[in-house]
Amino acid sequence: MTADVHLEARIRDRTVDSALRRRAAAVVPGGMYGHLDMARLAGHPQYIHRARGARLWDVDGHEYVDLMGSWGPVVLGHHDPVVEAAADRQRALGDCLNGPAEIMVDLAELLVRVVGHADWALFAKNGTDATTMCCTIARAATGRRLVLVAEGAYHGAAPWCSPNPAGTTGEDRANLRYYRYNDLDSLRAAVEDCADDLAAVIVSPFRHDAGYDEELADPDFARGARALCDTTGAALVLDDVRAGFRLHHGSSWEPLGVRPDLAAWSKAIANGHPLAAVTGGDGWREAAGSIFVTGSFWMGAVAMAAAHATVTELGRRHAVEHMVQVGDALRAGVLDSAGRWGVEVSYTGPVQMPNLLFADDPDRRLVRAFCDEALARGVYVHPQHNWFVSAATTTADLDMALTGLDGAFAAVRGRARR
Ligand code: PMP
Repeated sequence: MTADVHLEARIRDRTVDSALRRRAAAVVPGGMYGHLDMARLAGHPQYIHRARGARLWDVDGHEYVDLMGSWGPVVLGHHDPVVEAAADRQRALGDCLNGPAEIMVDLAELLVRVVGHADWALFAKNGTDATTMCCTIARAATGRRLVLVAEGAYHGAAPWCSPNPAGTTGEDRANLRYYRYNDLDSLRAAVEDCADDLAAVIVSPFRHDAGYDEELADPDFARGARALCDTTGAALVLDDVRAGFRLHHGSSWEPLGVRPDLAAWSKAIANGHPLAAVTGGDGWREAAGSIFVTGSFWMGAVAMAAAHATVTELGRRHAVEHMVQVGDALRAGVLDSAGRWGVEVSYTGPVQMPNLLFADDPDRRLVRAFCDEALARGVYVHPQHNWFVSAATTTADLDMALTGLDGAFAAVRGRARR
């Protein structure tokens, strides 16, 4: 069986998934929407049946080693027993109540202990809630309007930050201005252009724009951004939604010695349970208390219990160090396979959140074909987004991933530049 036949056989063997897609097409706009829409990708199943640790199974029973972790939330592994036991204990008491449960205070205290810049924490549900709230707090505190955003950066799916203009208006973004990531001169010029109307600079811990090589933050850029915010009184907002608790057990720029004023968190904070947080320093406390923000499900106590257990376990298990070890081995294995098969790739970013692209692949046809072949060999990866290594990855998971990815390189080598 050639590699291509292998992929085609896998796609044919998708009876349950295909039937669900057909039913969804009738009752869900577009059949599926947002970042988990797999319609344009041949190798990806749309529907997942179950998951444990670093493995998941699609609705047709195919098993995968999971290198996406639900696009970031699953950091300790699917259905982590300690996190789920904490969630179950809280569920037995109550979840959606007339007020927060005690766990909200426990969780805020934990974040204040663990996150260097945090003197307080607010909770919400999605990363977009948290990034939007950071901008609102910065505006309430400064009485100014403008927010500086890195060109091409993703900060969520609300009209002010959606990468897709459908249904948004120019007014939604009228108070945004742009700078280039890691380019302090461009940030300085953008800050000057804002004159005395700059409320905030929002920045991600490293450059992780979908579909491009990742770029680690230049420490001088991070320190320069901090200094510009100190000079102007604008808030330095760290969007730690994607990278938070994967790079460091605390805020992601702590290793650089740079503390943001406000930070947005979600994804990994509760190991897959729905929770987001904003943390901030004392100087921003009053403004944070002055704005009106809420949501029907924001005080869900089960997700907070899961977050408390997740953040505690991340520290206790030295999860970041483990993810770096696995990520280093994954990177070495991928680059070794690419080299042996004569395929030129760029593998960028922190090893626990790597991004793979192929040389001479402007329309990303090759990386898509590669990911299709990886899926067919039981490795769940994505061609347009960074991957996420989870702390549950075992040696057996890593071996399965490297074997599958090696097979995928073999399958596409004829199509890639040598
Ligand atoms: N900021 C960043 C850096 C993100 O990666 C994301 C989600 N991919 C968001 C904000 C928005 O988070 P959510 O999808 O939970 O609203």
